[in-house]
Amino acid sequence: MIPLKSPLCQASTLPAWQNSLAQALRDPLALLDAVGLTPAQLTEPFSTLVAEQSGFALRVPREYVARMRQGDPTDPLLLQVLPRTAELETHPGFSADPVGDAAAVGSDGLLHKYQGRVLLITTQACPIHCRYCFRRHFAYQDNRLDPAAWQQALDYLHADASIHEVILSGGDPLSLSNERLMAITTALQTIPHLRRLRIHTRMPIVLPQRIDASLLAWLSSLPWQIIVVTHSNHANEIDATVRSAMAQLKATGATLLNQAVLLKGVNDAAESLVDLSEALFAADILPYYLHLLDRVAGAAHFEVDETTARQLHRQLQQRLPGYLVPRLVREIAGEAHKIPIIA
Ligand SMILES: *Cc1c(COP(=O)(O)O)cnc(C)c1O
Ligand code: SF4
Repeated sequence: MIPLKSPLCQASTLPAWQNSLAQALRDPLALLDAVGLTPAQLTEPFSTLVAEQSGFALRVPREYVARMRQGDPTDPLLLQVLPRTAELETHPGFSADPVGDAAAVGSDGLLHKYQGRVLLITTQACPIHCRYCFRRHFAYQDNRLDPAAWQQALDYLHADASIHEVILSGGDPLSLSNERLMAITTALQTIPHLRRLRIHTRMPIVLPQRIDASLLAWLSSLPWQIIVVTHSNHANEIDATVRSAMAQLKATGATLLNQAVLLKGVNDAAESLVDLSEALFAADILPYYLHLLDRVAGAAHFEVDETTARQLHRQLQQRLPGYLVPRLVREIAGEAHKIPIIA
């Protein structure tokens, strides 16, 4: 007899995006193979062991790999995810917690750094592992919203009527199931002083399939103004599938913004940043921040110096309408806001 629910049936009931995440590439050689490269063709020293030795695994969905150029060791998408031996070097000034997150923990999983808004670390999971990530060493095990921490966070939010905005962050909050996201916002609806909900996510860029019907229905049902802050660093990341996902997000009434990180070898040219702003706006997204790299250990090879950054920003101001010029900022531990870098 055929069981009513064979394992195969159960597997096929997973949302498509979860299947894509389960099949994400985790092996550096498989990644190189997928883009038609061999280690010998890389321009920098390479070892398959870097991901392991650095404690930050390789992870990249095939949908993102598909947007990389074949046979190009300098591809700007490849460079964001390929572990390089330079990550194992230590550099003065580069530390495990460059932005002072540990000191800003209001309760477990809740960061209250800036007035009026708090950031919730909803999950440690990300659809992609970006090698320059400033949270690559964050002590997620101690700072997660497990059920006890979640109750504490809600108490914290209830007690402080100056908090008008909650930022769902992580990791990537859209790594959570729609059911889990719904449970979070149902609880947040008991807090009368909330006006805005912000979602910081790389998911619409990395895996636009994540923007499914039930996610859109959830967003549409919320009582607050919604801001979705995507994270894209290069125009090549934004293809027709991303534009379609963003159009659906926009149709829920959400405000769409983007933050990018200035990264050596990836987007540190005026042409590249102009193209990014144009591609974002074609997808209905306004450029919000262009971050100088947070000086996290293992990412020194991505750093663009501040003088170069100012020059690039000046060129953006000359070449783009004001609303397509992102604010160039640096995060400094202990400061009350992100610090604008004036060109
Ligand atoms: C960046 C950040 C915010 C949001 O800052 P905005 O300037 O409002 O975008 C909030 N909390 C933390 C901990 C942050 O790092
Ligand atoms: S998606 Fe964001 S949080 Fe996750 S690894 Fe990339 S930069 Fe870090």
